Amino acid sequence: MKHNGKKIVIIGGGIAGLSAAVYALKCGYEVQVLEMHDMAGGLAMSWRRGGYTFETCLHWLVGSKPGGEFNRVWKELVDLEKLTFLNPHEFVRIENETGDSLRLYTNVDMLEAELLRRAPDDIVAIRNFTHAIRTLGKFRLIDPSGGIADNWFNMLRDIPVMPLLMKLGKMSGKEYGARFADPLLRSFFTTGDMGKLTAIAMVLSLAWMNEQDAGYCIGGSQALIGLFEEKIAELGGTVRFNAKVERVLVDEGSAVGVQLCGGEAIPADWVISAADGHATIYEMLGGRHVDDGIRRIYADTESFASYVQVSLGVAMDLSDQPAMLTRVLCAPLVVDPETELPNLGFRFFHFDPTFAPAGKTAVTAILPTRNYKYWQSLRAEQPQRYRAEKGRVAEAVIGALEGHLPGVRESIEVIDVSTPATVIRYTGNWKGSQEGWLMLPGAGIKPFPNTLPNLDRFFLIGQWIMPGGGLPSGPMTARPAIKAICRRDHVPFDIQPEMHREEPVTV
Ligand SMILES: Cc1cc2nc3c(=O)[nH]c(=O)nc-3n(C[C@H](O)[C@H](O)[C@H](O)COP(=O)(O)OP(=O)(O)OC[C@H]3O[C@@H](n4cnc5c(N)ncnc54)[C@H](O)[C@@H]3O)c2cc1C
Repeated sequence: MKHNGKKIVIIGGGIAGLSAAVYALKCGYEVQVLEMHDMAGGLAMSWRRGGYTFETCLHWLVGSKPGGEFNRVWKELVDLEKLTFLNPHEFVRIENETGDSLRLYTNVDMLEAELLRRAPDDIVAIRNFTHAIRTLGKFRLIDPSGGIADNWFNMLRDIPVMPLLMKLGKMSGKEYGARFADPLLRSFFTTGDMGKLTAIAMVLSLAWMNEQDAGYCIGGSQALIGLFEEKIAELGGTVRFNAKVERVLVDEGSAVGVQLCGGEAIPADWVISAADGHATIYEMLGGRHVDDGIRRIYADTESFASYVQVSLGVAMDLSDQPAMLTRVLCAPLVVDPETELPNLGFRFFHFDPTFAPAGKTAVTAILPTRNYKYWQSLRAEQPQRYRAEKGRVAEAVIGALEGHLPGVRESIEVIDVSTPATVIRYTGNWKGSQEGWLMLPGAGIKPFPNTLPNLDRFFLIGQWIMPGGGLPSGPMTARPAIKAICRRDHVPFDIQPEMHREEPVTV
């Protein structure tokens, strides 16, 4: 690729920053990604402890299906076919402590049959639900970086889906779930952040799973991140680690570079922040480039909860377990003084052989909490109590797991607990949020502005400008930003898909 003589500095080496880096390199820019952590990925993260790998992010990757709509976008960036995708046929099993259980399958016909068998009185609601999954499988995403000319075909194809999309878009998960009398089925929609999100979020995810377009890749989110690092190196870009940006340098209304903690200044023709939105706007830019719209977003929009993650290395083959299990608890689990959970989700990673030695299984539980201040202040001011609290929560989680798998405690050889303080320390995300902004009823599927008032040569990308977040928000927000930069610099934005070198592997 011929260098076009211009430099872009990208703050943050999560999926959004890495996506922008690849697009920019392919357009001939010199690119430097500055990442404060010592590895890339941000929230798309896993870590190794005592022979086990504990994944935090990847449940499903939209765009995993060869030939699918979003697959094309991933392939503009990396050679996705180097990954091996799994499409589990059981999405989640929900059970209570009295032995009642419900299986939610990814295949819509199996799902319908199971729900009708279990809850025949909910027949109308079930049929509407599965009809919505089948219908939304036909929904085509609109490319936010394109105009009518790029999108007209998908817009036309979406016309029959629009009435349903608009109906679901106005409803929360809680309102949607209220139509089911069956308590386990209802709990699937109504608990935690799921109950607050627009009903589109879960129905669309199930639609993509039914299409086998939301699989899990072996190696988890870091396998995907590794492909980006490989591609950036191949194209001559750099990712500099342990490089925390303190300030965006602004001269006469234009971003001209960044300053790292420690004082080093790095000049650039363009600056893109793929880091936390709040820290970028209010700290790195000192709150000098805000208007009422931005103030309203940060004052009024609700973000996803943060989380405590309890990860267990279990010296047992748990391949008879579902990939995901939700236990509806008789007594709520106390996470912290403001947070009690009525149910607890486990993931049994028996399907990923890279995560544990043969015959052993990595098990994780994500416990949502918004009380990030509690965990941050405990860690900073009372380290002993912080450790004790982590131990208490781990013990409660193990207790709940024992209810499902009596005797499992004896086989637990690794216990690891991360908290909202860990998430903030390693990713800088505001309030330790796991996915940026909630996609709320009535808000539609559209990004927030990617520029700031009175600030030229600067873009925001990533989960903080795409409500709903998720890995696809990386390319979806990076693409329009690089396209706009190219337009300004009169550089062609001509991105070709990566050619695959091996046959795709789908299990
Ligand atoms: C528990 C959990 C489950 C999830 N499940 C899924 C899933 O199944 N599928 C899915 O698609 N998504 C999932 N997500 C969401 C997904 O991980 C995120 O939405 C996505 O990774 C966000 O990417 P990002 O690049 O926008 O932000 P981030 O990943 O937060 O990246 C921002 C980067 O900027 C760096 N940074 C911050 N401040 C600075 C600074 N001052 N200087 C330098 N660097 C800085 C950070 O270290 C970080 O690396 C999940 C997330 C969580 C937590």
